[in-house]
Amino acid sequence: MNLPPHIHFIQRGWVSSNSIIVSGGDAPAIVDTGHHEDVAETMRLVGQCINVADLRLIVNTHCHWDHIGANNVIRAASGALTAASQATAHILVHHDRRAMWLDYFAADAAPVTVDITWQDGDMVSVGGYEFEVVATPGHAPDSIALYQPETRLLISADALHEGDCGILNTIVHGDQVLDQAIATVARLQMYDIALALPGHGGLITDVPASLNALAGRLAEFKRHPEQMAMHLLRRVAMTTVLMQQPMHRAALVAYVLARPWPHDYAPRAGFEDPEKLIHHLLDSFIHKGLVVETESQLTSLVPR
Ligand SMILES: [Zn+2]
Repeated sequence: MNLPPHIHFIQRGWVSSNSIIVSGGDAPAIVDTGHHEDVAETMRLVGQCINVADLRLIVNTHCHWDHIGANNVIRAASGALTAASQATAHILVHHDRRAMWLDYFAADAAPVTVDITWQDGDMVSVGGYEFEVVATPGHAPDSIALYQPETRLLISADALHEGDCGILNTIVHGDQVLDQAIATVARLQMYDIALALPGHGGLITDVPASLNALAGRLAEFKRHPEQMAMHLLRRVAMTTVLMQQPMHRAALVAYVLARPWPHDYAPRAGFEDPEKLIHHLLDSFIHKGLVVETESQLTSLVPR
């Protein structure tokens, strides 16, 4: 299935979330706005799809830092209101740095205002289309997806990537996140979905296969929790390399050791020493050709 003509999918690199523009009516909307360091590029990409001043609604699928970065700039340029789940609104309005994962990356984000709050099961108008709000806890406790019944299209955010989901952060969001993610997959499997628009990565055209693959991965995590910890560590470490590069290995290791995540997750991944864990992660990136090390300077080959 192709995208309907009034829905634009803006696929980004590793760090910023994808953005989706829905412009089927007289109140165009954008779903998720990337990372704040990428605001200029986000505005350029959004401007290729729509006159930013015409946007009337910003939707945030969840509270994480890489989905809210251009909210304020778009709001200032357009007067668009912001909609999110009640749980997302609570986190954003209180600027809960831990829940937003800002502390994991020593990052910042401008304060976000939320004007409209949605609940699971609400039918809402987004850019001229009626969508069902589907609560999708797991990757984030406050996550929502948006399902459009006529086009059988799901804006899945980080609840479903291609055969995967966003990282499961048991330390920040609680040990229940894995069971929540498993229940979310089971719920999404009840929907008739022809196309999914994820928060990271490309369009998902075989949604049942992707959900099955994710269900299998989550079942593995249930049997082997250390794999879930490594899934998180690889992604957080790559994000860190992408944001700090080029950086000398010793400086990068010192930088990472000052963040909470290697200490949070080294024991869960089976490493007693967080420093050994960081070297292991960097070495595995180099071995896979994802990062190059020249004169101890680390640079990632993954698109940022
Ligand atoms: Zn996320």
